[in-house]
Amino acid sequence: MTEESKSIHEFDYELICEYYAGLQRQGPGSPEVTVRALSFIDNLTGGSRIADIGCGTGGQTMVLAEHAPGRITGIDLFPEFIDLFNENAGRLNLRDRVKGIVASMDDLPFPPGEFDLIWSEGAIYNIGFARGLREWRKFLKPGGYIAASEASWFTPTRPAEIDEFWKDAYPEMDTVSNKVARMEETGYIPVATFILPENCWTEHFYDPQVAAQEKFLKKHTGNQAAEELIANQRHEAELYYRYKEYYGYVFYIGKKI
Ligand code: SAH
Repeated sequence: MTEESKSIHEFDYELICEYYAGLQRQGPGSPEVTVRALSFIDNLTGGSRIADIGCGTGGQTMVLAEHAPGRITGIDLFPEFIDLFNENAGRLNLRDRVKGIVASMDDLPFPPGEFDLIWSEGAIYNIGFARGLREWRKFLKPGGYIAASEASWFTPTRPAEIDEFWKDAYPEMDTVSNKVARMEETGYIPVATFILPENCWTEHFYDPQVAAQEKFLKKHTGNQAAEELIANQRHEAELYYRYKEYYGYVFYIGKKI
């Protein structure tokens, strides 16, 4: 990497962090959906160990902590998110049960068989759905659960514009039935799948971004990278509103065989 491209890369990284750190969630979801996904998991006790991989600032982790027993470790690559995560845990008096650490999901610092439950909302795409399922499986106890939300197609075909957008953004985007097949192939019983309601994208994800974008653009007036970042976010949101009957987020809950 040249010095110039390195500095541009790092600058973008800081901007992306700053933008997302200002939002309560870094991906589509809602407290209701977290609780619904949790309702399919029946092995938890006070002694359980839970990992929340790609936890961001911990919006969903704190909901999980309030509705599930056991201790939760949040894992994220961005130290800025983990700092906010641990502040959130402290504010909610959850510090004895909830702790965030900086690590990468492709190199997790845990022994095999550590967890009763692996949670991951809107983040497994960073490693790829099938690879994440396969590689994280060893960290689960026998009979342990995985619950991951993932962008998925709702129909076998769709208009070219949205098909091309997602093929470029995430080549592993696939139909719900193919995602379930990946779960079976990688060693899980598919316990449940459900589509996240639209308000997970609107009320909980895109709506709060409107004001955040205005503020961000004002702060970074004339900064081309910042303007491009916001233009991309707005384009993605517009596509969602136009094509939302063809795709969305789906929760996949599996049990290790
Ligand atoms: N679960 C949160 C955040 C989803 S956004 C929510 O639903 O709001 C995806 C998260 O994955 C971001 O916080 C990002 O920093 C994190 N991430 C990206 N690559 C990662 C990696 N290699 N290892 C761990 N976390 C990663």
